[in-house]
Amino acid sequence: MSLIQIDSNAGERPRVGFVTLGCPKNLVDSERMLGLLSGAGLLSTGDLAGADVAVINTCAFIEASRQESIQAILEVAELKKTGRLKRLVVTGCLAQKFGDELRREIPEIDALLGTGVEEEIVEACKLEGGSEGQVGKAGSLWGAEVPRALSTPRHTAYLQIADGCNHGCTFCIIPKLRGRQNSRTIEDLVEETRRLAAQGTRELSIISQDTTAYGTDWDGRQHLPDLLRALAKVEGIEWIRLLYTHPSRFTGELVELLRTEPKLCKYVDMPLQHIDDQVLTRMRRRVTGRQTRNLIRALRARVPDMSIRTTFIVGSPGETENEFRTLKDFVKETEFEHLGVFSYSQEEGTPLGDSEAQLKEGVKETRRREVMTLQRRVSKRIHARRLGQRARVLVDQVTGKGEGIGRTMHQALEIDGVTYIRGTGLEPGRFLDVTLTEARAYDWVADAN
Ligand code: SF4
Repeated sequence: MSLIQIDSNAGERPRVGFVTLGCPKNLVDSERMLGLLSGAGLLSTGDLAGADVAVINTCAFIEASRQESIQAILEVAELKKTGRLKRLVVTGCLAQKFGDELRREIPEIDALLGTGVEEEIVEACKLEGGSEGQVGKAGSLWGAEVPRALSTPRHTAYLQIADGCNHGCTFCIIPKLRGRQNSRTIEDLVEETRRLAAQGTRELSIISQDTTAYGTDWDGRQHLPDLLRALAKVEGIEWIRLLYTHPSRFTGELVELLRTEPKLCKYVDMPLQHIDDQVLTRMRRRVTGRQTRNLIRALRARVPDMSIRTTFIVGSPGETENEFRTLKDFVKETEFEHLGVFSYSQEEGTPLGDSEAQLKEGVKETRRREVMTLQRRVSKRIHARRLGQRARVLVDQVTGKGEGIGRTMHQALEIDGVTYIRGTGLEPGRFLDVTLTEARAYDWVADAN
Protein backbone atom coordinates (compact mmCIF):
# COMPACT_ATOMS: atom_id res chain seq x y z
CA MET A 1 0.00 0.00 0.00
CA SER A 2 1.38 3.43 -0.79
CA LEU A 3 0.14 6.69 0.60
CA ILE A 4 0.47 9.92 -1.31
CA GLN A 5 -1.07 13.19 -0.31
CA ILE A 6 -1.71 16.35 -2.20
CA ASP A 7 -2.55 19.68 -0.69
CA SER A 8 -4.10 22.74 -2.28
CA ASN A 9 -2.08 24.96 0.02
CA ALA A 10 -5.06 27.33 -0.19
CA GLY A 11 -7.94 27.74 2.23
CA GLU A 12 -10.74 27.12 -0.25
CA ARG A 13 -9.38 24.14 -2.11
CA PRO A 14 -9.51 20.74 -0.45
CA ARG A 15 -6.44 18.79 0.65
CA VAL A 16 -6.52 15.35 -0.90
CA GLY A 17 -4.91 12.24 0.60
CA PHE A 18 -4.39 9.26 -1.71
CA VAL A 19 -4.05 5.58 -0.78
CA THR A 20 -3.04 3.09 -3.52
CA LEU A 21 -3.43 -0.67 -3.13
CA GLY A 22 -2.53 -3.50 -5.47
CA CYS A 23 -0.27 -3.84 -8.45
CA PRO A 24 1.87 -1.42 -10.50
CA LYS A 25 -1.01 -1.04 -12.99
CA ASN A 26 -3.11 0.44 -10.19
CA LEU A 27 -0.19 2.64 -9.18
CA VAL A 28 -0.07 4.10 -12.71
CA ASP A 29 -3.82 4.86 -12.51
CA SER A 30 -3.14 6.68 -9.23
CA GLU A 31 -0.27 8.61 -10.81
CA ARG A 32 -2.61 9.75 -13.58
CA MET A 33 -5.31 10.79 -11.13
CA LEU A 34 -2.71 12.64 -9.07
CA GLY A 35 -1.50 14.34 -12.24
CA LEU A 36 -5.05 15.52 -12.98
CA LEU A 37 -5.59 16.70 -9.42
CA SER A 38 -2.28 18.51 -9.41
CA GLY A 39 -3.22 20.10 -12.78
CA ALA A 40 -6.36 21.35 -11.04
CA GLY A 41 -4.15 23.25 -8.59
CA LEU A 42 -3.54 20.80 -5.74
CA LEU A 43 -0.10 20.14 -4.22
CA SER A 44 1.57 17.35 -2.25
CA THR A 45 1.46 17.44 1.50
CA GLY A 46 1.62 15.66 4.90
CA ASP A 47 -0.53 12.92 6.44
CA LEU A 48 -3.95 11.45 5.75
CA ALA A 49 -5.30 12.58 9.13
CA GLY A 50 -5.04 16.18 7.90
CA ALA A 51 -6.79 15.59 4.56
CA ASP A 52 -10.21 17.01 3.60
CA VAL A 53 -10.74 14.36 0.93
CA ALA A 54 -9.39 10.80 0.90
CA VAL A 55 -9.15 8.71 -2.27
CA ILE A 56 -8.67 4.95 -1.90
CA ASN A 57 -7.62 3.31 -5.16
CA THR A 58 -8.56 -0.30 -4.52
CA CYS A 59 -7.53 -3.76 -5.72
CA ALA A 60 -9.88 -6.76 -6.11
CA PHE A 61 -7.54 -9.33 -7.64
CA ILE A 62 -7.92 -12.01 -4.95
CA GLU A 63 -9.77 -12.33 -1.66
CA ALA A 64 -6.76 -11.06 0.35
CA SER A 65 -6.53 -7.90 -1.77
CA ARG A 66 -10.27 -7.27 -1.44
CA GLN A 67 -10.01 -7.61 2.35
CA GLU A 68 -7.04 -5.23 2.43
CA SER A 69 -8.96 -2.69 0.34
CA ILE A 70 -12.09 -2.93 2.52
CA GLN A 71 -9.99 -2.57 5.64
CA ALA A 72 -8.36 0.58 4.24
CA ILE A 73 -11.78 2.06 3.36
CA LEU A 74 -13.15 1.27 6.84
CA GLU A 75 -10.13 2.85 8.54
CA VAL A 76 -10.46 6.02 6.49
CA ALA A 77 -14.26 6.05 7.00
CA GLU A 78 -13.52 6.28 10.74
CA LEU A 79 -11.65 9.54 10.08
CA LYS A 80 -14.82 10.89 8.58
CA LYS A 81 -16.68 10.21 11.80
CA THR A 82 -14.01 11.48 14.13
CA GLY A 83 -11.62 13.69 12.22
CA ARG A 84 -11.66 16.53 9.74
CA LEU A 85 -12.18 14.30 6.70
CA LYS A 86 -15.13 15.61 4.68
CA ARG A 87 -15.19 13.33 1.70
CA LEU A 88 -14.31 9.74 0.89
CA VAL A 89 -13.81 8.63 -2.71
CA VAL A 90 -13.26 4.98 -3.68
CA THR A 91 -11.79 4.12 -7.08
CA GLY A 92 -10.33 1.09 -8.89
CA CYS A 93 -11.20 -2.59 -9.27
CA LEU A 94 -13.21 -3.02 -6.05
CA ALA A 95 -15.37 -0.02 -6.95
CA GLN A 96 -15.82 -1.47 -10.43
CA LYS A 97 -16.93 -4.91 -9.29
CA PHE A 98 -18.61 -4.30 -5.94
CA GLY A 99 -19.79 -0.67 -6.17
CA ASP A 100 -23.38 -1.36 -5.07
CA GLU A 101 -22.33 -3.49 -2.10
CA LEU A 102 -19.76 -0.89 -0.98
CA ARG A 103 -22.33 1.87 -1.10
CA ARG A 104 -24.81 -0.18 0.89
CA GLU A 105 -22.35 -1.37 3.54
CA ILE A 106 -20.19 1.75 3.95
CA PRO A 107 -22.42 4.85 3.78
CA GLU A 108 -19.43 7.11 4.54
CA ILE A 109 -18.34 6.64 0.89
CA ASP A 110 -19.28 9.78 -1.07
CA ALA A 111 -18.20 8.88 -4.59
CA LEU A 112 -17.23 5.72 -6.47
CA LEU A 113 -15.26 5.57 -9.70
CA GLY A 114 -14.80 2.23 -11.45
CA THR A 115 -11.91 1.44 -13.78
CA GLY A 116 -11.60 3.52 -16.95
CA VAL A 117 -13.40 6.60 -15.58
CA GLU A 118 -10.57 7.93 -13.45
CA GLU A 119 -10.63 11.18 -15.44
CA GLU A 120 -13.66 12.07 -13.28
CA ILE A 121 -11.41 12.28 -10.23
CA VAL A 122 -11.28 16.10 -10.06
CA GLU A 123 -15.10 16.29 -10.00
CA ALA A 124 -15.30 13.43 -7.49
CA CYS A 125 -12.94 15.24 -5.10
CA LYS A 126 -14.88 18.51 -5.01
CA LEU A 127 -16.15 19.15 -1.51
CA GLU A 128 -19.50 20.34 -2.79
CA GLY A 129 -19.76 17.28 -5.07
CA GLY A 130 -22.74 14.96 -4.99
CA SER A 131 -22.66 11.34 -3.91
CA GLU A 132 -23.48 9.59 -7.15
CA GLY A 133 -21.43 6.54 -8.10
CA GLN A 134 -19.79 6.43 -11.51
CA VAL A 135 -20.02 3.19 -13.42
CA GLY A 136 -16.67 2.15 -14.90
CA LYS A 137 -15.76 1.60 -18.51
CA ALA A 138 -13.44 -1.37 -18.10
CA GLY A 139 -10.85 -1.54 -20.85
CA SER A 140 -10.71 2.18 -21.68
CA LEU A 141 -7.24 3.72 -21.62
CA TRP A 142 -5.20 6.73 -20.67
CA GLY A 143 -3.11 8.43 -23.36
CA ALA A 144 0.22 10.27 -23.11
CA GLU A 145 -1.67 13.58 -22.94
CA VAL A 146 -2.95 12.81 -19.41
CA PRO A 147 -0.40 14.17 -16.93
CA ARG A 148 1.26 11.80 -14.47
CA ALA A 149 2.62 12.56 -11.02
CA LEU A 150 5.23 9.83 -10.55
CA SER A 151 5.18 8.10 -7.19
CA THR A 152 8.38 6.20 -7.96
CA PRO A 153 11.80 7.92 -7.86
CA ARG A 154 11.83 9.93 -11.10
CA HIS A 155 14.65 7.89 -12.67
CA THR A 156 12.36 4.84 -12.85
CA ALA A 157 8.78 4.63 -14.15
CA TYR A 158 6.19 2.09 -15.19
CA LEU A 159 4.88 2.28 -18.74
CA GLN A 160 1.43 0.76 -19.11
CA ILE A 161 1.12 -0.38 -22.72
CA ALA A 162 -2.38 -1.91 -22.64
CA ASP A 163 -5.23 -2.67 -20.30
CA GLY A 164 -7.57 -5.65 -20.11
CA CYS A 165 -6.94 -9.27 -21.04
CA ASN A 166 -8.33 -11.73 -23.59
CA HIS A 167 -6.92 -14.93 -22.09
CA GLY A 168 -9.72 -16.14 -19.86
CA CYS A 169 -7.64 -18.23 -17.42
CA THR A 170 -10.20 -20.11 -15.33
CA PHE A 171 -8.95 -18.85 -11.93
CA CYS A 172 -8.78 -15.14 -12.79
CA ILE A 173 -11.32 -12.33 -12.54
CA ILE A 174 -9.12 -9.67 -14.14
CA PRO A 175 -10.94 -9.74 -17.52
CA LYS A 176 -14.19 -9.07 -15.60
CA LEU A 177 -12.59 -6.11 -13.81
CA ARG A 178 -10.53 -4.66 -16.63
CA GLY A 179 -12.37 -5.79 -19.76
CA ARG A 180 -10.89 -7.04 -23.03
CA GLN A 181 -7.41 -6.06 -24.10
CA ASN A 182 -6.98 -2.55 -25.44
CA SER A 183 -3.45 -1.63 -26.56
CA ARG A 184 -2.15 1.92 -26.74
CA THR A 185 -0.48 2.96 -30.00
CA ILE A 186 3.29 2.88 -30.42
CA GLU A 187 3.29 6.64 -31.15
CA ASP A 188 1.44 7.41 -27.92
CA LEU A 189 3.80 5.22 -25.89
CA VAL A 190 6.91 6.74 -27.48
CA GLU A 191 5.51 10.19 -26.71
CA GLU A 192 4.94 9.28 -23.07
CA THR A 193 8.44 7.77 -22.87
CA ARG A 194 9.98 10.95 -24.31
CA ARG A 195 8.18 13.01 -21.66
CA LEU A 196 9.36 10.68 -18.92
CA ALA A 197 12.95 10.71 -20.21
CA ALA A 198 12.88 14.53 -20.34
CA GLN A 199 11.94 14.49 -16.64
CA GLY A 200 14.87 12.23 -15.80
CA THR A 201 13.49 8.68 -16.21
CA ARG A 202 16.27 6.20 -17.06
CA GLU A 203 14.52 2.88 -16.43
CA LEU A 204 11.15 1.85 -17.88
CA SER A 205 9.21 -1.14 -16.57
CA ILE A 206 6.74 -2.31 -19.19
CA ILE A 207 3.41 -3.44 -17.75
CA SER A 208 -0.10 -4.57 -18.74
CA GLN A 209 -2.05 -7.75 -18.00
CA ASP A 210 -0.06 -9.61 -20.68
CA THR A 211 2.69 -7.52 -22.25
CA THR A 212 3.46 -10.21 -24.84
CA ALA A 213 -0.09 -9.83 -26.21
CA TYR A 214 0.59 -6.17 -27.01
CA GLY A 215 -1.09 -5.22 -30.32
CA THR A 216 -2.82 -8.57 -30.86
CA ASP A 217 -6.14 -6.74 -30.38
CA TRP A 218 -5.43 -4.78 -33.62
CA ASP A 219 -4.67 -7.53 -36.11
CA GLY A 220 -3.92 -10.75 -34.23
CA ARG A 221 -0.16 -10.15 -34.56
CA GLN A 222 2.22 -9.50 -31.68
CA HIS A 223 3.66 -5.97 -31.87
CA LEU A 224 5.77 -6.00 -28.73
CA PRO A 225 9.14 -6.25 -30.55
CA ASP A 226 8.19 -3.21 -32.71
CA LEU A 227 7.28 -1.28 -29.60
CA LEU A 228 10.46 -2.24 -27.73
CA ARG A 229 12.64 -1.22 -30.68
CA ALA A 230 10.86 2.16 -30.83
CA LEU A 231 11.20 2.73 -27.06
CA ALA A 232 14.89 1.78 -27.13
CA LYS A 233 15.50 4.69 -29.51
CA VAL A 234 14.30 7.25 -26.96
CA GLU A 235 17.31 9.17 -25.72
CA GLY A 236 17.86 9.04 -21.98
CA ILE A 237 16.21 5.64 -21.47
CA GLU A 238 18.92 3.11 -20.57
CA TRP A 239 17.05 0.13 -19.14
CA ILE A 240 13.78 -1.36 -20.41
CA ARG A 241 12.37 -4.11 -18.25
CA LEU A 242 9.69 -6.55 -19.37
CA LEU A 243 7.10 -7.54 -16.77
CA TYR A 244 3.93 -9.70 -16.99
CA THR A 245 4.74 -11.80 -20.06
CA HIS A 246 2.78 -14.93 -21.00
CA PRO A 247 4.64 -18.13 -22.02
CA SER A 248 2.18 -18.94 -24.83
CA ARG A 249 2.98 -15.67 -26.59
CA PHE A 250 6.76 -15.65 -26.51
CA THR A 251 8.15 -15.58 -30.05
CA GLY A 252 11.62 -16.27 -31.46
CA GLU A 253 11.73 -12.60 -32.50
CA LEU A 254 11.25 -11.50 -28.90
CA VAL A 255 13.92 -13.88 -27.59
CA GLU A 256 16.32 -12.58 -30.25
CA LEU A 257 15.56 -8.99 -29.28
CA LEU A 258 16.30 -9.78 -25.65
CA ARG A 259 19.66 -11.12 -26.80
CA THR A 260 20.62 -8.24 -29.07
CA GLU A 261 19.04 -5.02 -27.78
CA PRO A 262 21.45 -3.61 -25.17
CA LYS A 263 18.78 -1.47 -23.48
CA LEU A 264 16.54 -4.47 -22.78
CA CYS A 265 17.32 -5.85 -19.33
CA LYS A 266 18.32 -9.51 -19.43
CA TYR A 267 15.36 -10.11 -17.20
CA VAL A 268 11.88 -11.32 -17.81
CA ASP A 269 8.89 -11.67 -15.54
CA MET A 270 6.79 -14.61 -16.76
CA PRO A 271 4.03 -15.85 -14.42
CA LEU A 272 3.71 -19.57 -15.25
CA GLN A 273 1.10 -20.47 -12.59
CA HIS A 274 1.90 -24.23 -12.92
CA ILE A 275 3.83 -26.76 -15.00
CA ASP A 276 1.73 -29.94 -14.82
CA ASP A 277 -0.27 -30.44 -18.01
CA GLN A 278 -3.49 -31.46 -16.26
CA VAL A 279 -3.40 -28.39 -14.05
CA LEU A 280 -2.49 -26.11 -16.97
CA THR A 281 -5.49 -27.48 -18.87
CA ARG A 282 -7.82 -26.90 -15.91
CA MET A 283 -6.42 -23.38 -15.62
CA ARG A 284 -6.92 -22.92 -19.39
CA ARG A 285 -3.42 -21.52 -19.80
CA ARG A 286 -3.16 -22.54 -23.47
CA VAL A 287 0.41 -23.76 -23.01
CA THR A 288 1.87 -27.17 -22.14
CA GLY A 289 4.61 -28.06 -19.70
CA ARG A 290 6.82 -29.14 -22.59
CA GLN A 291 6.39 -25.84 -24.45
CA THR A 292 7.19 -23.95 -21.26
CA ARG A 293 10.34 -25.99 -20.61
CA ASN A 294 11.48 -25.46 -24.22
CA LEU A 295 10.92 -21.72 -23.92
CA ILE A 296 12.97 -21.47 -20.73
CA ARG A 297 15.73 -23.56 -22.29
CA ALA A 298 15.76 -21.25 -25.35
CA LEU A 299 15.85 -18.11 -23.20
CA ARG A 300 18.73 -19.43 -21.12
CA ALA A 301 20.67 -20.76 -24.13
CA ARG A 302 20.28 -17.73 -26.37
CA VAL A 303 20.35 -14.82 -23.90
CA PRO A 304 23.52 -14.82 -21.80
CA ASP A 305 23.05 -13.73 -18.18
CA MET A 306 19.28 -14.15 -18.43
CA SER A 307 17.28 -13.85 -15.22
CA ILE A 308 13.72 -15.20 -15.03
CA ARG A 309 11.07 -14.32 -12.45
CA THR A 310 7.94 -16.41 -12.20
CA THR A 311 4.92 -16.97 -9.99
CA PHE A 312 2.99 -20.15 -9.30
CA ILE A 313 -0.44 -20.91 -7.87
CA VAL A 314 -0.56 -23.96 -5.62
CA GLY A 315 -3.64 -25.76 -4.29
CA SER A 316 -5.98 -24.95 -7.18
CA PRO A 317 -9.12 -27.14 -7.29
CA GLY A 318 -8.29 -30.79 -7.86
CA GLU A 319 -4.48 -30.37 -7.68
CA THR A 320 -3.25 -33.86 -6.74
CA GLU A 321 -0.13 -34.80 -4.78
CA ASN A 322 1.41 -36.00 -8.03
CA GLU A 323 0.68 -32.79 -9.90
CA PHE A 324 2.13 -30.80 -7.01
CA ARG A 325 5.25 -33.00 -7.04
CA THR A 326 5.72 -32.24 -10.75
CA LEU A 327 5.72 -28.55 -9.84
CA LYS A 328 8.27 -29.03 -7.05
CA ASP A 329 10.59 -31.01 -9.33
CA PHE A 330 10.31 -28.28 -11.93
CA VAL A 331 11.22 -25.59 -9.35
CA LYS A 332 14.28 -27.60 -8.26
CA GLU A 333 15.55 -28.35 -11.75
CA THR A 334 14.83 -24.96 -13.38
CA GLU A 335 16.43 -22.73 -10.72
CA PHE A 336 14.45 -19.56 -11.29
CA GLU A 337 16.34 -16.46 -10.22
CA HIS A 338 13.15 -15.10 -8.62
CA LEU A 339 10.00 -16.96 -7.70
CA GLY A 340 6.74 -16.13 -5.93
CA VAL A 341 4.01 -18.58 -4.86
CA PHE A 342 0.36 -17.86 -4.14
CA SER A 343 -2.04 -20.31 -2.62
CA TYR A 344 -5.12 -20.54 -4.81
CA SER A 345 -7.82 -17.99 -4.00
CA GLN A 346 -11.38 -19.05 -4.81
CA GLU A 347 -12.97 -16.39 -6.99
CA GLU A 348 -16.72 -16.34 -7.37
CA GLY A 349 -17.94 -16.37 -10.96
CA THR A 350 -14.80 -18.02 -12.38
CA PRO A 351 -14.88 -21.66 -13.65
CA LEU A 352 -12.35 -22.84 -11.04
CA GLY A 353 -14.05 -20.83 -8.32
CA ASP A 354 -17.30 -22.68 -9.04
CA SER A 355 -15.58 -26.09 -9.01
CA GLU A 356 -16.49 -28.49 -6.21
CA ALA A 357 -12.95 -29.85 -5.95
CA GLN A 358 -11.69 -27.06 -3.67
CA LEU A 359 -8.74 -28.01 -1.44
CA LYS A 360 -8.54 -27.20 2.26
CA GLU A 361 -6.82 -23.93 3.19
CA GLY A 362 -4.30 -25.87 5.30
CA VAL A 363 -3.25 -28.01 2.32
CA LYS A 364 -2.82 -24.96 0.10
CA GLU A 365 -0.75 -23.14 2.70
CA THR A 366 1.48 -26.19 3.35
CA ARG A 367 2.16 -26.52 -0.37
CA ARG A 368 2.95 -22.82 -0.66
CA ARG A 369 5.47 -23.05 2.15
CA GLU A 370 7.07 -26.15 0.66
CA VAL A 371 7.74 -24.37 -2.62
CA MET A 372 9.12 -21.31 -0.83
CA THR A 373 11.49 -23.51 1.19
CA LEU A 374 12.72 -25.15 -2.01
CA GLN A 375 13.24 -21.77 -3.63
CA ARG A 376 15.30 -20.47 -0.71
CA ARG A 377 17.80 -23.29 -1.37
CA VAL A 378 17.77 -22.50 -5.11
CA SER A 379 18.41 -18.80 -4.37
CA LYS A 380 21.42 -19.68 -2.23
CA ARG A 381 22.94 -21.74 -5.04
CA ILE A 382 22.37 -18.96 -7.60
CA HIS A 383 23.82 -16.35 -5.25
CA ALA A 384 26.90 -18.47 -4.59
CA ARG A 385 27.58 -18.63 -8.33
CA ARG A 386 27.31 -14.86 -8.77
CA LEU A 387 29.39 -13.86 -5.76
CA GLY A 388 32.42 -11.78 -6.76
CA GLN A 389 31.05 -10.95 -10.22
CA ARG A 390 30.85 -7.43 -11.65
CA ALA A 391 27.41 -5.92 -12.20
CA ARG A 392 25.84 -2.62 -13.22
CA VAL A 393 23.48 -1.05 -10.67
CA LEU A 394 21.03 1.81 -10.80
CA VAL A 395 21.12 3.74 -7.52
CA ASP A 396 17.57 4.31 -6.19
CA GLN A 397 18.41 6.16 -2.98
CA VAL A 398 21.20 7.11 -0.62
CA THR A 399 20.53 6.62 3.10
CA GLY A 400 21.40 9.11 5.83
CA LYS A 401 24.45 6.94 6.62
CA GLY A 402 25.72 7.36 3.06
CA GLU A 403 24.91 3.82 1.94
CA GLY A 404 23.41 3.40 -1.52
CA ILE A 405 20.37 1.23 -2.23
CA GLY A 406 19.99 0.23 -5.84
CA ARG A 407 19.26 -2.62 -8.20
CA THR A 408 21.04 -4.65 -10.85
CA MET A 409 19.23 -5.31 -14.12
CA HIS A 410 18.13 -8.59 -12.49
CA GLN A 411 16.18 -6.81 -9.75
CA ALA A 412 12.84 -5.17 -10.56
CA LEU A 413 11.67 -2.25 -8.45
CA GLU A 414 9.72 -3.33 -5.34
CA ILE A 415 9.33 -6.88 -6.70
CA ASP A 416 12.76 -8.48 -6.27
CA GLY A 417 15.48 -7.75 -3.73
CA VAL A 418 17.85 -4.77 -3.73
CA THR A 419 21.60 -4.20 -3.81
CA TYR A 420 23.19 -2.30 -0.92
CA ILE A 421 26.10 -0.32 -2.31
CA ARG A 422 29.17 0.88 -0.46
CA GLY A 423 31.62 3.31 -1.99
CA THR A 424 31.77 6.69 -3.64
CA GLY A 425 29.83 8.36 -6.46
CA LEU A 426 26.47 7.35 -5.00
CA GLU A 427 23.61 9.44 -6.31
CA PRO A 428 19.97 8.50 -7.02
CA GLY A 429 19.41 7.85 -10.72
CA ARG A 430 23.08 7.12 -11.41
CA PHE A 431 24.39 3.90 -12.95
CA LEU A 432 27.51 2.41 -11.34
CA ASP A 433 29.67 -0.63 -12.01
CA VAL A 434 30.10 -2.64 -8.81
CA THR A 435 31.43 -5.93 -7.47
CA LEU A 436 28.94 -8.22 -5.72
CA THR A 437 30.65 -8.93 -2.40
CA GLU A 438 28.01 -10.50 -0.17
CA ALA A 439 24.77 -12.40 -0.76
CA ARG A 440 21.80 -12.14 1.60
CA ALA A 441 18.55 -14.13 1.33
CA TYR A 442 17.14 -12.00 -1.50
CA ASP A 443 19.54 -9.03 -1.59
CA TRP A 444 23.11 -8.27 -2.55
CA VAL A 445 25.83 -6.15 -0.96
CA ALA A 446 28.19 -4.55 -3.48
CA ASP A 447 31.35 -2.50 -3.56
CA ALA A 448 31.38 0.48 -5.90
CA ASN A 449 35.10 1.22 -5.67
S1 SF4 B 1 -3.36 -13.90 -18.58
FE1 SF4 B 1 -3.23 -13.05 -16.50
S2 SF4 B 1 -4.75 -11.36 -16.39
FE2 SF4 B 1 -5.21 -12.61 -18.23
S3 SF4 B 1 -6.81 -14.06 -17.53
FE3 SF4 B 1 -4.79 -15.10 -17.33
S4 SF4 B 1 -4.10 -14.67 -15.23
FE4 SF4 B 1 -5.79 -13.23 -15.69
